[in-house]
Amino acid sequence: MKTDSDHSSEFVIPISYGSTEVIETGKWGFQKPQTSFMTAPCQEACPAGNPIPQFLYLSGEGRYDEALRALLKENPFPGVCGRVCFHPCETDCNRAQYDESVSVRSMERYVSDAASNQPPNLKPMRNRDSKKVAIVGAGPAGLSCAYFLSLLGHQPTIFESQKEPGGVLRWGIPGYRLPKSVLKKEIQRIFHLPIEIRTGIKVGEDLSFDELTRFDAVFLSPGARLNAPLSIEGEDLKRVWKGGDFLERINSKDKVTLVRETLVIGGGNTAMDVARSALRLGSKATVAYRRTRNEMPALQEEIVEAEEEGVGFEFLIQPVKVSLLKNKRLAVKFQRMKLRGLDRTGRPKAIPVKGKFLTLETDHLITAVGEQVDLSWIPQDLIKNGLVDVHPSPRIFAGGDAVDQPRTIVTAISAGKRAAISIDLYREGGSYSEVFSKIRLGNKGSVSMEAYLSGKDGGKWRGPLEVVSYEKLNTLFFEPKKRAKMRQLSLGRRLKNFLEVNVGFSSEEAQLSASRCFSCGTCNYCYNCYFFCPEGAISLDSDHQTRTVDLEHCKGCGTCAKSCPRNVVEMKESS
Ligand SMILES: Cc1cc2nc3c(=O)[nH]c(=O)nc-3n(C[C@H](O)[C@H](O)[C@H](O)COP(=O)(O)OP(=O)(O)OC[C@H]3O[C@@H](n4cnc5c(N)ncnc54)[C@H](O)[C@@H]3O)c2cc1C
Ligand code: SF4
Ligand code: SF4
Repeated sequence: MKTDSDHSSEFVIPISYGSTEVIETGKWGFQKPQTSFMTAPCQEACPAGNPIPQFLYLSGEGRYDEALRALLKENPFPGVCGRVCFHPCETDCNRAQYDESVSVRSMERYVSDAASNQPPNLKPMRNRDSKKVAIVGAGPAGLSCAYFLSLLGHQPTIFESQKEPGGVLRWGIPGYRLPKSVLKKEIQRIFHLPIEIRTGIKVGEDLSFDELTRFDAVFLSPGARLNAPLSIEGEDLKRVWKGGDFLERINSKDKVTLVRETLVIGGGNTAMDVARSALRLGSKATVAYRRTRNEMPALQEEIVEAEEEGVGFEFLIQPVKVSLLKNKRLAVKFQRMKLRGLDRTGRPKAIPVKGKFLTLETDHLITAVGEQVDLSWIPQDLIKNGLVDVHPSPRIFAGGDAVDQPRTIVTAISAGKRAAISIDLYREGGSYSEVFSKIRLGNKGSVSMEAYLSGKDGGKWRGPLEVVSYEKLNTLFFEPKKRAKMRQLSLGRRLKNFLEVNVGFSSEEAQLSASRCFSCGTCNYCYNCYFFCPEGAISLDSDHQTRTVDLEHCKGCGTCAKSCPRNVVEMKESS
């Protein structure tokens, strides 16, 4: 039975009359919290290595100029990528396993549009070993290479055969996907750096390849501008156009007149851009593709938008002959195809269905069955399998569509960055493979310029960070939030002109989208660790941007690590 005195003892609270700081319970613990930043899977998947959690955090704070500066450390084209990148970052986003992926691409666009128009303070670094580098081609690969070389203190000179820089971004992709004003702004920012460009110079015609070798290094990025032929009878007829030429004329503001019906052959981005442009010029457009919709290499959203706009599709047919009819229309004879087995690239193989044909009549035929590299001016020892291959040559580098790599803008940007680092290392006699293995972001090929710069001076690179998986996040601290949908011009308004179809986010949609990012592997100052620590062993610095763990008093209970939603705080054995 309890006595009164027993009962009262339950409420006795021991009070120390001195400081409890002498009770250094931290000495008991055998584990201590450590802050270890990790690589987010979105960043690993972005070939340009964009600092995604960082730029989204800064966007969430409304600090758009800083967010843009963060992006520009890794990628000179956030406004372009924010519109037309195929966004592998979103495919690998951890949030996709929780509800829906974060709208990384649309946020990249928002930041590039919302940041002030002043060019951020881009300054080349001082480089005592500054070298002259010739770059052939001012597409995304060549311009990115020049940008990073210039930031690294080298002196790039670009030779470009067209009258303006931009490559496919300027002469291929139509304005309704990528407005010319956006591209112009990004190119102007690049040329704020000391980069020389000589437009209207075609290497191989106006300048010999040998003349390039007087430079200390050369970067070849001529892209793939030759339209692949159909190699069938009748393809030279009037009213049969090549897709690249057709788009170039539209992008040059040449007068292009189409009448009633246009038939487009192909299933890639060029075919979609051609068909949607034809609609905007008042023609009915039908795409003929030899496989099915599932195998079309065009961006999925391009296919959907083409369907919404009224482009027709004919699948499993391949052209075999074009002839001119008496009424001046064209008759295109197609072989019917079926899918059987896989080809070399692992895609379902289209094979003819014996004796089955189809004929379609049209006013114009536009072919878009792939692009080839013009190798006529490239020395034989730098060519392999119809592409540029520079492995035998240490002073010559190459990247973009002309080499064996995925044909996308962001991989071209990545190639330009890698080449700039390689040229910088080459001049300093560094070892490529060792350095690239240390500055990589995860295991999918992207590298960080910031990591390169951080180790460059002392020649000591930190080494790659682990990629944080969904399982490592503490999702109890997150709540479901619907992804904002990109608003688009109405169908009626779209088809009358080349105005940009995607309207962009409002500031509210941008804030919501930024707040959806889990900041995987990166501290975003939520301070859960501070609030949950039962020992009060964590303190915040006055600017609340850093926190300190008092290891003398931390018992190593691990509450901070358990309460960190993004796996930044981990318990590690204390030494
Ligand atoms: C119509 C179309 C739409 C596309 N849409 C998308 C998309 O939505 N998203 C995406 O990620 N990718 C898209 N792509 C692919 C993407 O555009 C390319 O992968 C990218 O542009 C390749 O960049 P690059 O710098 O290697 O080559 P390019 O952009 O082709 O630039 C090469 C430059 O080199 C110049 N040049 C060539 N030869 C010489 C020479 N001898 N001397 C001097 N200059 C020379 C050319 O004039 C050109 O300016 C599209 C491609 C096309 C054709
Ligand atoms: S460049 Fe492409 S992959 Fe990289 S963050 Fe932007 S949209 Fe994603
Ligand atoms: S939640 Fe944010 S940090 Fe994590 S993978 Fe997605 S975009 Fe990247």
